[in-house]
Amino acid sequence: MQLLKNSKELADVCRGWHADGQDIALTPTMGCYHAGHEDLMHYGRMLAKRLVVSLFVNPAQFGPGEDLQAYPRNAERDAAIAKKCGADILFMPEATDMYMPDYATWVDVPELSAALCGQSRPTHFRGVCTVVLKLFLLTMADVAVFGAKDWQQQTIIRRMVRDLGMPTRIEARPTVREADGLALSSRNVYMTADERAQAPEIYQALRYAGDMVAGGESSATLLRKAVLRRWAERLPLGRLDYLAVVHPDTLSPLDSVDGPAIMACAVRMGKARLIDNILLRGE
Ligand code: AMP
Repeated sequence: MQLLKNSKELADVCRGWHADGQDIALTPTMGCYHAGHEDLMHYGRMLAKRLVVSLFVNPAQFGPGEDLQAYPRNAERDAAIAKKCGADILFMPEATDMYMPDYATWVDVPELSAALCGQSRPTHFRGVCTVVLKLFLLTMADVAVFGAKDWQQQTIIRRMVRDLGMPTRIEARPTVREADGLALSSRNVYMTADERAQAPEIYQALRYAGDMVAGGESSATLLRKAVLRRWAERLPLGRLDYLAVVHPDTLSPLDSVDGPAIMACAVRMGKARLIDNILLRGE
């Protein structure tokens, strides 16, 4: 595995691979790897001849007062994991390499970005789209792998790629969870023991809503109420950011689950802001 810090070097190596007829899979990450990241890497490894993993805590996707400085970092351990998962390149740029001092160009998908997490993180997805597009252009990846935990992120990236006519195919992997249902997240380390003990209830309540839909319930209002009632009892340390029933592709709120629908949420547990979602109904 090559460890690259310079974006020009990354572009040069990837151009060489393409010229040689080798296809490239890309897994963008912010590091502090857990089994969810490993799954994306293993999957990327299977999809193409070459696997590029990027590790960049992207300042542009953090708002003022968010956890950019505190975000957990463990480069040495991450490099060992990326190597074990079969990465050909681990790309770890400095912020100054990705954003020159007079950096001025942004990619935005404003409507999809204003929904859900966009309400409390208004510039987050503009930062995500910009860095992901830069990574796509540097690698010209044939396929890029994202996690379904960040449902809104992969939906926005799919739209960006479609709208711009990019050749990169987007693949999403199911959320990897702890045995008790908590979605793995680099931010789980922010929780105290008490918060961690309650946190599985986030997903358990979403599953409860999923079971209600399987049992014939379709009212988004009643589904939300049922989840909020459970959280009031079993998640007293949680502070709700949002809980919404939306269309999986348009992210528009739904009154009724009579077609494709997800339930998505963000809950603050102390210092951790945790997101999760469940597919209530597929195509
Ligand atoms: P992050 O490093 O948290 O920015 O995440 C990098 C990629 O890993 C994103 O595509 C995430 O959606 C994905 N990811 C994060 N957590 C999980 C998880 N628990 N299961 C599957 N994918 C995940």
